Amino acid sequence: IISIRDLVVGFNGRKVIDGFSLDVRRGEVLGIIGPSGSGKSVTLRTVVGLLPKTAGTIEVFGRDYASLSRQQRVEIERHWGVLFQQGALFSALTVIENVEFPMREHLDVPRKLRREIARFKIDQVGLPPGAENLYPSELSGGMIKRAALARALALDPEIVFLDEPTAGLDPIGAAKFDELVLSLKDALGLTVYMVTHDLDSLVTVCDRIAALGKGKLLQVGTLDELLASDDPWLTEYFHGPRA
Ligand code: ATP
Ligand code: MG
Repeated sequence: IISIRDLVVGFNGRKVIDGFSLDVRRGEVLGIIGPSGSGKSVTLRTVVGLLPKTAGTIEVFGRDYASLSRQQRVEIERHWGVLFQQGALFSALTVIENVEFPMREHLDVPRKLRREIARFKIDQVGLPPGAENLYPSELSGGMIKRAALARALALDPEIVFLDEPTAGLDPIGAAKFDELVLSLKDALGLTVYMVTHDLDSLVTVCDRIAALGKGKLLQVGTLDELLASDDPWLTEYFHGPRA
């Protein structure tokens, strides 16, 4: 569903992503791991068209994103949702207004129907009905993530991009979020592209894992395959430093 080939992304002549290739299959949860600064977020932001690439190709839904007109891009963007690492919600909008926002931008539906859909999404991510009129500053960390996920789901996407969705959550909140992602995958057949540092998420929700190191793909495979890797970073990541 996503095909990334020889991707290069640079800032001021410094290559942050340097020849990265990866396929994401329809219906899978793909986890992206790698050291801080290895380019996980940059890759995600480039795939969704928020950062320009220096070289390489990115195909989403079988189409080369770069070759599309602005109109065609908007049409494609409707079919994915993104939960960013930072600044998940608009602070001046209530939860329900946040969830309605993408619909206002992309769909021509009456206000009443929009509200109804937003309420459905809020319920779907397990937020209580009373949360809809709260502002982000009034929410717990876990509720913010859920509300941001509800907004990412607003347009019934086929792919969701999650950048460290469980970072900052306590273990129980993180486990609940993982369960939610799994149930959405099962119920909706979502494809999930998830950057994470969370080992529990890798174990419980990811079908495959791609490890990124200094802008290159170190390895991609199942958790068992990565556990067996002899790459030094992966070995230390999974098994701790060697004595
Ligand atoms: P973390 O685990 O800490 O979130 P990451 O793997 O997501 O790390 P990125 O945010 O992708 O790391 O950053 C990769 C590198 O690109 C870093 O060195 C960062 O400083 C640099 N970088 C990211 N965004 C920009 C930007 N807009 N302009 C210049 N450099 C950037
Ligand atoms: Mg990041």
